[in-house]
Amino acid sequence: MSKPLPETANFLKQAERNVTLEGTLPLNRLERLSEFLHDNSGELFAKLNFSSNTGYLRMQGHVEATLDLVCQRCLQPMEFPVSGEFKFGLLTSEKYEDRLPPDAEPYLLEGDEQSLIEVLEDELLLSIPIAVTHQEECSEFLQQQAEELRVEKEKSSPFAVLKVLKRD
Ligand SMILES: [Zn+2]
Repeated sequence: MSKPLPETANFLKQAERNVTLEGTLPLNRLERLSEFLHDNSGELFAKLNFSSNTGYLRMQGHVEATLDLVCQRCLQPMEFPVSGEFKFGLLTSEKYEDRLPPDAEPYLLEGDEQSLIEVLEDELLLSIPIAVTHQEECSEFLQQQAEELRVEKEKSSPFAVLKVLKRD
């Protein structure tokens, strides 16, 4: 069992102490992500490694979750596993940005505590494809829908009305 991650942390202190945080967060705490979800009762798992012995203040990590998204083709819920890797260079001022290695994204430290939720939510949002659709199960829904549509059309077609009239 993984323990819950803190929602905020002092990133600078974590980096100075070379701390590794590992654990889970409930997806319903991620409001922006929740808008994309059919059901947000799941949780994410993340591992974050803070370090200061790499020549800069680094926050590197991994986040993963199984999201309950809505298929953009049949509009039915679908489970979709996502994951993301990130590497940030923690900065106390923008002027130090050019001291970061090119593969580290700048993260400007503001206030005493920073939001872990925000960092992990951004990564998960980036990992969602623009249009997610079922691989195979979807066709069943589509066929069903096409059939319903056909029946619906037949009912409402003017010829159907004519047929009824003729019968009278
Ligand atoms: Zn589908």
